[in-house]
Amino acid sequence: MHELAVCRSMLSQVARIAARHRARAVTRISVRIGPLSGIEPDLLCQAFPFAAAGTVAEHAALVVDAQPVRVHCEACGHDAETGPRNLACPRCGERCTRLLSGDELLLAEVELLHQATDN
Ligand SMILES: [Zn+2]
Repeated sequence: MHELAVCRSMLSQVARIAARHRARAVTRISVRIGPLSGIEPDLLCQAFPFAAAGTVAEHAALVVDAQPVRVHCEACGHDAETGPRNLACPRCGERCTRLLSGDELLLAEVELLHQATDN
C-alpha cells in the first residue's frame, strides 16, 4: 500500500520536528495534497493510524487539505483552476499549460504538545 509508505516517511519528518522542539506529543498534522500527487486522501487517512502507532504522533489528528489543480496557459497567459484529467486552458483550449499546483504532497503544519511545566 503506497499510502502507508507515504505516511511512514511523513511521520519520520514529524518525529524530527517534534524532537527538535522537545515536544511530548504531536496533536495535529496538516498535509496539502493535490489530485495529481497520486495520493488518495481517504487511503492516507486510513493508513495513518497504522503508521502512527507507537510513534510520537500516535494520537495526532491528520488533516488533509486538498489542493485544486491550477495551470498557467503559455498561449494566452491565463491562470485557471482545472480538473485533474484535463490540463488544457479553460479559456482558450490550448494544451500548452504549465502546472502551478495540484501535484503537491506537503507537510503543511505540525501541532505539538509541549512538556508541562511544574509551576
Ligand atoms: Zn489559454
